[in-house]
Amino acid sequence: MTNVVSQAPERVDLLIRSKRILLERFDFDGSVGVVGERIAGLYPRGHEPEAVRHIDATGLVVAPGLIDSHAHFRDPGFTHKEDFAHGTRAAALGGVTTVMDMPNVDPPTNSVETFLAHIENARGKSIVDFGHNAAGTDPSQIRGLAAAGATAFKIFMMQDVGRDYPHMPGTMVEDHGLLYELFGEIASTGLVLMVHPHDQSLWRRFVGDAWERDGRGPGSYAKAWFRDEGLIFNSGVATALELQAATGVPLHLLHTTNARTLSHVRWAKAQGQNVTTELNPHCLFLGGSWENIERLGPYALGVWVSDPHVEALWESVRNGELDIVGTDHAPHAQSEKEGGWDDMFAAPGGSPAIQEFLSLFLTEVNAGRVDLRRVIELCATSPAKRFGLYPHKGVIRVGADADLVLIDLAREVTLSHEMAASKAGYSAYAGQVVKGVPVTMLLRGTVIAEDGRVQVDPGFGQFLGDRFGRQEPKPQTTKGMCDAY
Ligand SMILES: [Zn+2]
Repeated sequence: MTNVVSQAPERVDLLIRSKRILLERFDFDGSVGVVGERIAGLYPRGHEPEAVRHIDATGLVVAPGLIDSHAHFRDPGFTHKEDFAHGTRAAALGGVTTVMDMPNVDPPTNSVETFLAHIENARGKSIVDFGHNAAGTDPSQIRGLAAAGATAFKIFMMQDVGRDYPHMPGTMVEDHGLLYELFGEIASTGLVLMVHPHDQSLWRRFVGDAWERDGRGPGSYAKAWFRDEGLIFNSGVATALELQAATGVPLHLLHTTNARTLSHVRWAKAQGQNVTTELNPHCLFLGGSWENIERLGPYALGVWVSDPHVEALWESVRNGELDIVGTDHAPHAQSEKEGGWDDMFAAPGGSPAIQEFLSLFLTEVNAGRVDLRRVIELCATSPAKRFGLYPHKGVIRVGADADLVLIDLAREVTLSHEMAASKAGYSAYAGQVVKGVPVTMLLRGTVIAEDGRVQVDPGFGQFLGDRFGRQEPKPQTTKGMCDAY
């Protein structure tokens, strides 16, 4: 029990008592002491120090605040869908204390100039701590973006057919030669490259076939997207894995949707490749059901995942194979979604999720489908480790930021549109009864949200680049880049 310290201060600012505190290796019955913004001590029962304030969380679970590495806050450029203030309110209410948002904003963050402007804009609005995944699409900007504080890079291998958002120019690269150069350039920064794997030429063909055969409704879109068990994803996965092997870039594959992706990655990991996978809640709880596709249409899409593949994803959640859960919180205006009933190919894919996803997982914890500790690993500890935030965040231990979520595993709530803090103003999960909710969220020792109400002003969140420094470019990797053939 080396984590449990007795040489901690005799007086703390805040003491949180619980029978179940989720430490990294075991559950702990005792108290967490906070001094200033950090965890100052962990105390067994009967050994508590004096405290200025107490939180009695006896009936609650205390877990590390969640880290969402995949959020679309649409700000700037598309603030009729979402903005940083609304999006991070939803995050705080959902148990998320750190976010990393995505670069498909306008202007896209593919240059140092637009990146810095993006951070300044977010700085005044964010409720929670935030990083940013810069668009890694211009080789000349990569090192500058890393030095400016990018948390990671993101490349979409896809461009929309029949619509101009959310996968627009400036954030996407389909040319494999340019991808090779970018993977190498990003490898030299040491930062993680997030890739939305995709095969654009197959997608163009599948779209054409679908329009001819099944029309343009949600069902046609869903089948085209998942045609041949996710072929457009898996072709992109295979390409990205080969480019990773050649360049050595730390690769994070977004949107794991099927068993074939899992087996590709299993093989790559066995070869020692530096690759991790992301799972989005919508694959399990929304698009992973044909009934939802029919009932909710555009609100259930982006992605349909067929039943056997949903099971494979659950198995990867349970057995430890899957690495990280990212919400892919992707709000759109209701008016934009409604158009999808007639033409899903012209309507934007994605739905809000950052406020709901923890409760959706907790419901499955209560149902015995997955262990609570595993959920917290996927949603907090693993992203902290992958994106360089560990051990400051994603874990409860002495010295870490006091980012905590207090969970009531027994409370039942019916999700509703009215609860949605996202600017989108609706929830694709409305009507679902969840059992298990985050009730109190602390960020760096301050209660930021409690019982459905946010307690701090926009601007409380800090930029991760300010806290944890910026990435100095490393010497150019020789892996793959200088091979003499
Ligand atoms: Zn996304």
